[in-house]
Amino acid sequence: MIYDIAIIGAGASGLMAASQLTNRSIAIIDSNSKIGLKILASGGGKCNITNKYVTSDNYLGDKKFIQKTLDSFTSEELLDFVSSFDLKLEVRKYGQYFCKNSAKDVVSIFQKLTKHCHFFMGEKVLHVEHSRDFCIETKNRVIKAKKLVVASGGLSYASIGASSIGYEIAKSFGHSIKTPAPALVGLTVQKEQFWMKNLSGISFEVALHVEGKTLKSDLLFTHKGVSGPVVLSGSLYWQKGKIAFDFLPDIDLIKLLKQKSKKLISSQLPLPKRFVVEFLNSIGVEDKPCNRLKKDEIKKLEMLKNYEFAPAGNFGFTKAEVTKGGVSTDEIDSSTFESKLQKNLYFIGEVLDVTGELGGYNFQWAFASAIRLTKGMKSW
Ligand SMILES: Cc1cc2nc3c(=O)[nH]c(=O)nc-3n(C[C@H](O)[C@H](O)[C@H](O)COP(=O)(O)OP(=O)(O)OC[C@H]3O[C@@H](n4cnc5c(N)ncnc54)[C@H](O)[C@@H]3O)c2cc1C
Repeated sequence: MIYDIAIIGAGASGLMAASQLTNRSIAIIDSNSKIGLKILASGGGKCNITNKYVTSDNYLGDKKFIQKTLDSFTSEELLDFVSSFDLKLEVRKYGQYFCKNSAKDVVSIFQKLTKHCHFFMGEKVLHVEHSRDFCIETKNRVIKAKKLVVASGGLSYASIGASSIGYEIAKSFGHSIKTPAPALVGLTVQKEQFWMKNLSGISFEVALHVEGKTLKSDLLFTHKGVSGPVVLSGSLYWQKGKIAFDFLPDIDLIKLLKQKSKKLISSQLPLPKRFVVEFLNSIGVEDKPCNRLKKDEIKKLEMLKNYEFAPAGNFGFTKAEVTKGGVSTDEIDSSTFESKLQKNLYFIGEVLDVTGELGGYNFQWAFASAIRLTKGMKSW
């Protein structure tokens, strides 16, 4: 049999595309034994499905291409779509929408909507060729289709199916690939910042300055370095240079210190005491009453507002929530997601060189790119 459409990847983008193409014969091929495994693992099991505030500014990639896609399926439209299936959501800090119950509820929507598809689960795609149709080879079979949608994601979390097949297929049809790298990932620190490792488990809100961007959210210290939402989003933009933390965003530190308070610095500052003690130790200032601080000590404490350092690296693909880089959007038609180099070949979701910050932006991208593709295909 020759399918109308074959989709590689039963993840967020592949399932959304399949759910919309009801009048076609569709084959979905995935190396996992179950669909939507990454959705199940997302948002701590509650799937942060989208965000109240989504613009191309929240993404790395071609801004025009991204905005056009986001405009054709907005976060409001995604919320309407899932609430028509009675999905219960709650909005949390920073406009993030999470499932009230479980990420399983999102997967079960797609289970209902993809009943018309033929699933080939547990079938890892090894190779794709094209003559008159696409021939998709797995270990056990060759699946043929007139159109091929590559929705195979990036390299992060190989434990739940990630592979480089999307990039290999793209390259075999002449596409260029922006080097894939881990993103939404913790950062390791150099010797000078090893004091941070003693703070494992401590978390509080900071502002992070990275590559001309300022992000505000929670920082988490870990035994490996720094993590938490603000660092994960920052890792998207970080390019080996220096970053800077403002550990006291929205607070006038000098005013606070000059109040001539008799309190110890660690009690006066609205920060976890353990953090202040380690920080003071690292800059060689004694934890003394604020009214006894000397000028040069106040100067050193100002580093709390702009603590600059160069991270050593990141925690790698096994811990990274997404992959930045991927198939260049220059060679993809932004109205249909069809390859400009090979007719009937499409790329959607994370396999493309578009990556969002932490906060529901990556699912929004995966779903919006899938919807844009299906709008183009419906007239076919
Ligand atoms: C732990 C974790 C938590 C996350 N939490 C969030 C969150 O809360 N909110 C958010 O917006 N984003 C989150 N993300 C990111 C988000 O999950 C992805 O950006 C999104 O799933 C990408 O969708 P996709 O369809 O492009 O790829 P995926 O969802 O990764 O799907 C790709 C599919 O292709 C299959 N595949 C790959 N190679 C092959 C092959 N050779 N043969 C057959 N099948 C193959 C894989 O098994 C997989 O099922 C999280 C990611 C992780 C890892």
